[in-house]
Amino acid sequence: MDDLSRFCCLNETCRDHGKRGHGNLTVPMRYGPNQTRLLWCSTCRTRFSERKGTPLFDTRLPADKALSVLAHVAEGIGTRKTARLTGVHPDTVTRYIRRAGHHAEQLHDELVAFSPSDDRSPVR
Ligand SMILES: [Zn+2]
Repeated sequence: MDDLSRFCCLNETCRDHGKRGHGNLTVPMRYGPNQTRLLWCSTCRTRFSERKGTPLFDTRLPADKALSVLAHVAEGIGTRKTARLTGVHPDTVTRYIRRAGHHAEQLHDELVAFSPSDDRSPVR
């Protein structure tokens, strides 16, 4: 049985959109060399990749390899060193850096937009 408690429907028009562990998702099949799970929402009858909305969406590296690349970069290791240490092409490292950066920017913008106001702040 797949643990889907961390996932939610990503269809913005679905009434169960964003509800994690709501029980509306199932795994009808897996696909690709990494056996990525395809998720299906029983509420809106939409299907989507478990990687949708993550930096790993539409990528080819196995998750552990991709996370290793990003972990090396996060530690400040350069592109060429990361490529040598993880066994991937330097262009792949650059592509994952761009993806992760774009994802982090989107996440930042979303979280900052919902930051509670601080009454102690002199500027409102
Ligand atoms: Zn849905």
